[in-house]
Amino acid sequence: VAPADETRTLSLRIEPYGSDRYLLIGRDVTALHRLQGVRQDFVANVSHELRTPLTVLAGYVETLLDTDEGQDPQMHRILSNMHQQADRMRRIVEDLLLLSRLETSQPDADWFETIDVARLLEPILNDARLVSGEEGHDIRADLDPTLTLWGVPRELQSAFSNLVFNAVKYTPAGGRVEVRWGRDEQGRAVFSVCDSGIGIEARHIPRLTERFYRIDVGRSRARGGTGLGLAIVKHVALRHGARLEIDSTPGEGSCFRVIFPGP
Ligand code: ADP
Repeated sequence: VAPADETRTLSLRIEPYGSDRYLLIGRDVTALHRLQGVRQDFVANVSHELRTPLTVLAGYVETLLDTDEGQDPQMHRILSNMHQQADRMRRIVEDLLLLSRLETSQPDADWFETIDVARLLEPILNDARLVSGEEGHDIRADLDPTLTLWGVPRELQSAFSNLVFNAVKYTPAGGRVEVRWGRDEQGRAVFSVCDSGIGIEARHIPRLTERFYRIDVGRSRARGGTGLGLAIVKHVALRHGARLEIDSTPGEGSCFRVIFPGP
């Protein structure tokens, strides 16, 4: 029994008890809750502290690349590699910061607005075509321009672009990527990305939204992944009352759907 002035966190569960009664079971999870808070603060602080030194380092490397010494082929290769790695670290840090903001803070009411999703997706699709480049993916979009969404634009932009870029990343050259925004048969607003890519074995699917969970770490890194994309998608979906559904067949392709509530 805690002193009256101490806040405790309880986890409550209701279980059937006999045929006509229920049992309410309470567990004190205060210590676990505190630990989770400490972990979240630590990640947020580390990411924040790494941001400035990384920017400075990348800046110096860029300066060196522009000097006469930087034009020497061997030096140029080393500096370009350093620049790429600094950029990768910067993306991981930015994703970690975004994720910790999504986990720890509720969105302000005034971040929400009516979003023209078809318009929000335009630059994402253009960037995806640029990234695909010579790999020549067939990137198609079927977007309902009349269907708007009440949400936080920068969060949805981040979630939708993660799904579109993943489809390009995990689909071999020339493959198909189909992006849809519209209503399903039940009248719910759905954003979906389906690809004809490498697919995912069923046993991995439940764990894909964990931070840094990757099926093939080498492939993810080589393609510029941070391992945080789907964790971001899941949290953004949750904040919008939506859920993420994943269907996939190894060797054939995958479909990721963000299903928003209600008609
Ligand atoms: P990453 O930065 O590694 O892409 P994500 O969190 O976005 O991290 O995705 C986690 C893992 O899920 C990826 O490493 C990859 O193994 C798998 N994955 C995500 N999207 C797809 C897809 N469209 N097709 C096949 N595998 C995918």
